Amino acid sequence: MSAAIQHSLAPAGGKTPEIAIFGTGAAGLCTAMQLKKAGIHSFTIYEKSDGVGGTWRDNTYPGAGCDIPSHLYSFSFEHKRDWSRKFALQPEINAYFEECAEKYDLTRHIRFNTEIASAEFDEDTAQWHIKTTEGEERMADIVVSGVGQLNQPFIPEIAGRDGFKGVQFHSARWRHDVNLKGKRVAVIGNGASAIQFVPEIAPEAAELTLFQRTPNWVIPKADRPYTKLELALFKAFPFLTKIHRAMIYLTLERNFLAFKKDSFFSKLFERQARKELESHIQDPELRAKLTPDYPAGCKRILLSNDWYPAMARKNVHVETNAIDHIGENAVVTKDGTVHPADIIIYGTGFKATDFLCPMEIRGLGGRLINDAWKDGAEAHRGVAVAGFPNFFMLYGPNTNLGHNSIIFMIECQVNYVMQCIEEMMAGDIAWLDVKPEAMTRFNTALQDEIKKSVWAGGCTSWYKTESGKVTNNWSSFTAKYWWQMRKADLENFAKVARSKIKAPARQAAE
Ligand code: NAP
Repeated sequence: MSAAIQHSLAPAGGKTPEIAIFGTGAAGLCTAMQLKKAGIHSFTIYEKSDGVGGTWRDNTYPGAGCDIPSHLYSFSFEHKRDWSRKFALQPEINAYFEECAEKYDLTRHIRFNTEIASAEFDEDTAQWHIKTTEGEERMADIVVSGVGQLNQPFIPEIAGRDGFKGVQFHSARWRHDVNLKGKRVAVIGNGASAIQFVPEIAPEAAELTLFQRTPNWVIPKADRPYTKLELALFKAFPFLTKIHRAMIYLTLERNFLAFKKDSFFSKLFERQARKELESHIQDPELRAKLTPDYPAGCKRILLSNDWYPAMARKNVHVETNAIDHIGENAVVTKDGTVHPADIIIYGTGFKATDFLCPMEIRGLGGRLINDAWKDGAEAHRGVAVAGFPNFFMLYGPNTNLGHNSIIFMIECQVNYVMQCIEEMMAGDIAWLDVKPEAMTRFNTALQDEIKKSVWAGGCTSWYKTESGKVTNNWSSFTAKYWWQMRKADLENFAKVARSKIKAPARQAAE
């Protein structure tokens, strides 16, 4: 399944835009690769760390891997045929992104260790004025933000946290220098990350206490290494990998049906998860603790073959009493129980609804994007926000999925952005700004559709804001998104010709 289209961008007497890309995760790399394929080299990628891969560079916790099969969790136009297993682990995924960067000679475009502090649109010059946290200033005609939704680790404000005498860290900032052998480990959170690292570390720890607020629906993961024969066939007959990819896509796409309210598929997942739970957990009290009371799909359905066996271990204790505070050497729950701990690991996720934070993005009239989003982030097709010309987001508001590959969505978005750039270059347009009424129309329809989904119902998740607005998830099948994104709706954008721009373009002082 492919969402990528070959673009060929040639300015019709106009200016080749200077493009700033934020981040070298899948989204930033995809944009850069497509720009190169289209013959555009005038771009700079700003990356806050010292390597490419985004979330796959950051998340190096034991057992880190993707719960979307790798043949689909990769670019359609850079199909890797020799994935070692169905669900590759983090080192193989990150190596894939590094190989992509190398193949497209992207390193020379990347400014590593450069974090963006702010970007402000200057109407007079039709340029984005970008500042780094080091105070450096740069200019760009177009900004493509590829920072995604899961880049700011979230650590809850728990009383006494700073006074803890042991070691504490977040799963996305794993401390590989800390030896867990024989230690009392407290893990807070049991989401998609924790279910991967807890089974890995439980055999090492002397005791592991899992602080669980809400149980998850966990179903088996159909994972295995590819056989030598399969790998040989994929190598000899590339079309087989394409068929394999298409089959994975269709199977996952069907799973969207589980997200409809009261759906039959949701019940099927629940039955599968209960069976898995009952086959591993004999203790009725523990079974009850691990059984969710909300419909499957409301939170991400998790895939694991070793989560329940880990929960059944003698040295693992599942604590469901709420945490009251953290002491110098313990986590204390509201019932007064003291749980001694040498190490606390926060598997508490990311600040997912704070899109673009901590960057300060200002559009027309100096308006802050966070003011435009005071009732929750939203964008036109997840990509553009009215009043923020030439600013495009990838994996932006309402483009997250619970059932399919986010890379498919990113390719749809990059295809859309490339068409916008094409339009600007062909028509010598200084800026494109999505019309507010088009953005409102899109979001009204999207939120109406979300009301029919399980996410609107009775469970908390990082998909929605505290007020309950679902700001993160796409509302339908990915095929519907692809259909909407295959051709950019340029009639829904206000266009300002370059001839109308007051001041000449500025070069920032280096
Ligand atoms: P997460 O799914 O948001 O889980 C966070 C966990 O922390 C939840 O169990 C949550 O409990 C708990 N928590 C949050 N605040 C807490 C507090 N104050 N006290 C106690 N517990 C608290 O985070 P994640 O596991 O890092 O995963 C985030 C996302 O990353 C996933 O949904 C997925 O999209 C992505 N991810 C993907 C993969 C993959 O294989 N593709 C792997 C890892 C992560 P509640 O449930 O009660 O809120």
